[in-house]
Amino acid sequence: MATNQNLEQFMAKVIAKNPAEPEFHQAVKEVAESLFPFIEENPKYKGILERIAEPERVFIFRVPWLDDKGEVQINRGFRIQMNGAIGPYKGGLRFHPTVTLSVLKFLAFEQVFKNSLTTLPMGGGKGGSDFDPKGKSDNEVMKFTQSFMTELQKYIGADTDVPAGDIGVGGREIGFMFGQYKRLRSEFTGVLTGKGLDWGGSLVRPEATGYGNVYFAEEMLKTKGQNFKGKTVVISGSGNVAQYATQKATQLGGKVVTLSDSEGYIYDPKGIDAEKLAFVLELKNVKRGRISEYAKKFGCEFVAGKRPWGVKCDIALPCATQNEISPEEGKTLVNNGCICVSEGANMPSTPGAVEAFLEKKILFGPGKAANAGGVATSGLEMSQNSLRLSWSREEVDERLHNIMINIHKTCEKYGKDKSGFINYVNGANIGGFVKVANAMLAQGLV
Ligand code: NDP
Repeated sequence: MATNQNLEQFMAKVIAKNPAEPEFHQAVKEVAESLFPFIEENPKYKGILERIAEPERVFIFRVPWLDDKGEVQINRGFRIQMNGAIGPYKGGLRFHPTVTLSVLKFLAFEQVFKNSLTTLPMGGGKGGSDFDPKGKSDNEVMKFTQSFMTELQKYIGADTDVPAGDIGVGGREIGFMFGQYKRLRSEFTGVLTGKGLDWGGSLVRPEATGYGNVYFAEEMLKTKGQNFKGKTVVISGSGNVAQYATQKATQLGGKVVTLSDSEGYIYDPKGIDAEKLAFVLELKNVKRGRISEYAKKFGCEFVAGKRPWGVKCDIALPCATQNEISPEEGKTLVNNGCICVSEGANMPSTPGAVEAFLEKKILFGPGKAANAGGVATSGLEMSQNSLRLSWSREEVDERLHNIMINIHKTCEKYGKDKSGFINYVNGANIGGFVKVANAMLAQGLV
């Protein structure tokens, strides 16, 4: 019977039902490994994970647009409505050539647990396109996003499904999409988060994922009587999450020595201070240049085609993309003395890397807990939109900080073993699952 199957049988079914979706299989397996022993002890939850692993709805659509040469381009658009048991679907849109159904299903699946951990009433969703904003003009990005939203608007709404940004979707893209939604629907509503401050956005939303990740790392470090002061921090990525993780880690006394993009990483042993970070923000968010330009500007090393995990550090904050820490790189980090890995990106550590972290019992915060600050603050943006109010920077930051402290507490509650070791993977998976599962049980077989 479906409800009495073991982990191997469960995964075999998931793989058979969702062929050629390796990222989705990986994400489901990681959660199932934590949940199977828990469900064994709490049999009322039998069968629920199987339901959560099946999206409630998937939309796939054609996105035609005209480039600057007047030529027709065709991309593929997606929206996954994974689970709406505890609130409207909520989760970002990713524009990147690596986007596939598998990648978005893995992200939507993770989002269900993450959103539950925030304690806010948000279901899980995700979407995006294989469109690559890199090298496109503002005009081309606008043409594409308008076409994308022309189709997407049929499926979303302020009380049903509220997308946000992710890789390749920042303030510019959210602006163009919001404009198109408003034009098609004649509604000024909180249908997207990550909006500009003058038109319904929330203070601290741009900073929230990076700040939240560092707040979570800080809580993990506290359990060992440690903090960021004087620690060497290695960060990957140089986009939204990496930028604000750098800022907060530096404010707390850490020295951030690396940033990266898909072409390589910079190593600045003197540390990326506020002035250098201002250069990165301008370079990445306005000029849309490559991180190698940082090395030219500040006279440090640029290592082409490599990731930064070989650089000796105390704390690692992977903030670029999925599977960016291989098993070997995970071992290198641990062998070089890294005591804390806090995932700003979604699933950046391969299963082999996670194994290396857990084996050596270092502090390891999985993305669904450690990067939940972004969606939590999106939830706060939704609340402000509904109230037609704007909270101050201090108020939003304090709420974000408290949410991260509470997520840490939840992980501790569900992840602490008899020896006192906190397995944050189990903690986040079980802690996120319980609320969604209880809601699904209460709402009947839907
Ligand atoms: P951005 O688009 O702002 O930045 C992404 C960064 O990662 C860029 O430096 C990019 O380099 C690099 N990158 C992307 N894909 C790859 C790849 N395949 N290989 C190497 N480098 C890559 O995205 P965000 O900062 O918003 O997102 C980063 C991560 O954080 C993602 O995993 C996202 O899902 C996660 N996240 C984001 C949240 C948010 O609020 N924005 C919330 C929670 C999680 P390049 O420019 O060369 O592509």
